[in-house]
Amino acid sequence: MRDYNFSAGPAVLPLPVLERAQAEMLCLPGAGASVLEISHRGKPFMAILESAKQNLKELLGIPDGYQTLFLQGGSRLQFSMVPMNLLRGQTGPADYLLTGAWGKAAYAEAVKEGEVRVPWDGKQFSYDRTPADSDYSIGSDSAYVYFTSNETIEGVQFHEEPAAGGAPLICDASSDFLHRPLDISRYGMIYACAQKNAGPAGVTIVIIRDDLVERGAKSLPGYLNYKNHVDGDSMYNTPPTFAIYLVDLIAQWLLKDIGGLDAMYKTNQEKAKMLYDVIDGSNGFYQGHAQRECRSVMNVTFRLPNEELEKKFNAEASQQRLTSLKGHRSVGGFRASIYNAMPREGVVALRDFMQDFAKQNQA
Ligand SMILES: *Cc1c(COP(=O)(O)O)cnc(C)c1O
Repeated sequence: MRDYNFSAGPAVLPLPVLERAQAEMLCLPGAGASVLEISHRGKPFMAILESAKQNLKELLGIPDGYQTLFLQGGSRLQFSMVPMNLLRGQTGPADYLLTGAWGKAAYAEAVKEGEVRVPWDGKQFSYDRTPADSDYSIGSDSAYVYFTSNETIEGVQFHEEPAAGGAPLICDASSDFLHRPLDISRYGMIYACAQKNAGPAGVTIVIIRDDLVERGAKSLPGYLNYKNHVDGDSMYNTPPTFAIYLVDLIAQWLLKDIGGLDAMYKTNQEKAKMLYDVIDGSNGFYQGHAQRECRSVMNVTFRLPNEELEKKFNAEASQQRLTSLKGHRSVGGFRASIYNAMPREGVVALRDFMQDFAKQNQA
């Protein structure tokens, strides 16, 4: 029996996707072998890659003039590839908006490459919020403006793109990619490792505008230059074929079963509201980490009055097969990751449990 798995990542995948992968595991239709066993240059896999690109294009309305890449090295490698390609050789510095742990980690890599400014840092607020556009300004010399759309650890999310002056906007969307429709034309580049909201570990999706592809210096190591991946159509080296196959199945699931990203977003907002309503209505028994306007639709972070109660909460939740709820060690408490693939019933079960637990343990 499957738990309701609230893991932050690798995370829950849609059951119909797992079932289809299982059914096709031994023999991919038309391929005569498993997807795990075929050449990335043969027709069956080329069709999968094309399908994944097309389905992402359709889901997000990716305009012409952008390239979709499937890379390895996780989002961590993007922390380095972004400044290597987009900052090196530029006259002005890069601007990093810091709203949590992942943004800080990206910043730590960028400063190795060149000059970086921090127009806004949420540190004084314990990273419980995102800035308003009026809270910072971007110099006209900015090489790019970088932000993390959803800080997975703190549960803090931008619900709209931040202002970037005229500079290209670069986004780490690792934990909320495909959770709502986006206007991709507002971005210079957006990327996401798949294992939170878009697939399994092993592949990172990069959507990058053509002019930025050209910024990478020829002296960069081959794998680290976006241009090589664009020229090689994500086959500069052997791509993570099985992970790309699963990303394609998830894109198909979003298009056909869910009905697109508008419908997905509506469901995601409803799921998040169920949990935040319990937190808000608990007379302070549950304390959310993030400020209301900035709280995440994907990662709901909260604490209980003391650690004893938190231990009890965790033990009783596990008994009810509500698992992987523990918060990141840096924030403590709990984090319910309710990505696209978390079924509504899972959130209902957690909501009911939280309500009962508060009733029984509130002083
Ligand atoms: C998980 C995560 C990362 C790190 O991803 P890896 O694939 O482990 O490198 C980066 N940014 C955000 C927002 C994340 O949630």
